[in-house]
Amino acid sequence: MTRKTIPIVRYDCSKCPGYCCSYPRIEVKDRDLARLAKHFGLEKAEAERKFTRWYEPGERILKHRKDEVYGSICRFFDTDVRRCTIYEARPAVCRDYPNGSKCGYYDFLKFERKHQDDPDFIPSA
Ligand code: SF4
Ligand code: SF4
Repeated sequence: MTRKTIPIVRYDCSKCPGYCCSYPRIEVKDRDLARLAKHFGLEKAEAERKFTRWYEPGERILKHRKDEVYGSICRFFDTDVRRCTIYEARPAVCRDYPNGSKCGYYDFLKFERKHQDDPDFIPSA
């Protein structure tokens, strides 16, 4: 029998202002769109129109909204509490990120906060 090991997570999203959600291209595959539509009780076509746009043929992405910290961020990000509002229905790319036990941005954030001696410091990425 193979035992599944649970990776130790070495980042804390609750201490981060949500840098990964500011990526301009958060891809929405067909399965992601179906999940989003179900979550909001919408037809897929309506969810697609409301929440996404085409970056290029074959790449559908989430729309953004304005953000004071990063300039622009995913439309589903709550900019007051700094977290995802659709966590259970988020696209696969959000579920997979950062694809391992470490997050590069979090390491950078921790390093800068320590060196600036400011636990709330937010470096421009
Ligand atoms: S950038 Fe890293 S630490 Fe920040 S929210 Fe995303 S995964 Fe979490
Ligand atoms: S869907 Fe949620 S986790 Fe994904 S980018 Fe938007 S706010 Fe971040």
